[in-house]
Amino acid sequence: MPVGKKMHGLLTSIAKFTLIFEPMSKNLQDPSLRSWIEVKPDSDFPIQNLPFGMFTDGKTDPHACCAIGEYVIDLQKLHELSYFNNIPLPVNVFARTYLNDFIGLGKETTGALRARISELLQTDNKQLQDNKADREIVFKFQKDVTMLLPVRIGDYTDFYSSIDHATNVGKMFRDPENALLPNWKHLPVGYHGRASSICVSGHSFHRPKGQTKPTDAPPVFGACKLLDFELETAFIIGRSTQMGESVSTDKAGEYIFGMVLFNDWSARDIQTWEYVPLGPFLAKNFASTMSPWIVTIEALEAFRVKGYKQEPKVLPYLEYSGKKNIDINLEVYIKPENSEAARVCESNYRYMYWTMEQQLAHHTVNGCNINVGDMMASGTISGPEKHQFGSMLELSWRGTNPLKMKDGSERKFINDHDTVILRGWCKKGDLRIGFGECAAKVLPAT
Ligand code: CA
Repeated sequence: MPVGKKMHGLLTSIAKFTLIFEPMSKNLQDPSLRSWIEVKPDSDFPIQNLPFGMFTDGKTDPHACCAIGEYVIDLQKLHELSYFNNIPLPVNVFARTYLNDFIGLGKETTGALRARISELLQTDNKQLQDNKADREIVFKFQKDVTMLLPVRIGDYTDFYSSIDHATNVGKMFRDPENALLPNWKHLPVGYHGRASSICVSGHSFHRPKGQTKPTDAPPVFGACKLLDFELETAFIIGRSTQMGESVSTDKAGEYIFGMVLFNDWSARDIQTWEYVPLGPFLAKNFASTMSPWIVTIEALEAFRVKGYKQEPKVLPYLEYSGKKNIDINLEVYIKPENSEAARVCESNYRYMYWTMEQQLAHHTVNGCNINVGDMMASGTISGPEKHQFGSMLELSWRGTNPLKMKDGSERKFINDHDTVILRGWCKKGDLRIGFGECAAKVLPAT
């Protein structure tokens, strides 16, 4: 055998040897992993995902859970049945209404738990697979349970980080030639939102009321006429900081637990009148919808792509290295009452100009502290093409271009009894990691 070939063989053996001894957490995303639980190829929840949520079956208190295929796995029950004995977990950590205490244990523990769940679900592991009694206790069909708000959100921040969205809005309301404001490419613009009205997917809410201003008349009070969705994602903070501390772009990943889909409902007519000079207020805080499953940032690493080319160069505290955007396909559907849902938007998270790491570095650069469970939303995510716009404001171009529904009706904005559904997933080869659904229904104003 030629020396080169021998050498190659030796190196391959070393590589294989090294792989075996890599920590478990590194291999959770291996596309070849399979579970003894059946997972359909188009499922959002293969064994490589294992997102976290909170559920109730209506009989017991809320428990934390993971998703696999069409099931939820009750983590509190698994814990009580001693499946997590080697992981340092408080006794009732999965039975505490929200995931905050669990997330707050830190990535070493939450990562070890995810690795253990993956291990228990893998084809060759018989421990749970062969224990029918335990299986019946811990698995429930997703269709039979109610998903709850997964985290207690202390503070909610909304950014404005999609360049196509900011450009579209600038063109419509300001200067078509000079759409972006002077600060936009120098910092991730954002504002502090309200956490009390963030609801989990599946809720409904009444059309908001408020002040609007007809063009040539005094302001009037009434139901919002231009109700809109905003296609967003949000990340959940997994580690707190002290006041005065800043998080660098390179360390930001350690503070991000995971991501959800997020519909940041907006009352456009109320917004136009109220937002000067302090920005969003009642047009934004009447309801927001988040998806129930927090997909861990680790599950999304395989889908990292290059970030947006940022010109002009950003200030040093906003610089980052490596691939920081993520290839997440995003869709929006409108489902009128008694009709099929129509897809109105296909966008992608990769169109974000500012990354999560930059948003977090900017948010904390002044010493502002963050807490486990805080939520930071992307801002409306639009792509460059017309069918990729992430709001009705842009899709209908301020109402000048109505969209057709499957029942023949038209939409410039969102009607009463419409349900708006966001979906999101990543795909690379056979590996598909999804977010589930983020849906909410609009009821008439009270
Ligand atoms: Ca928003």
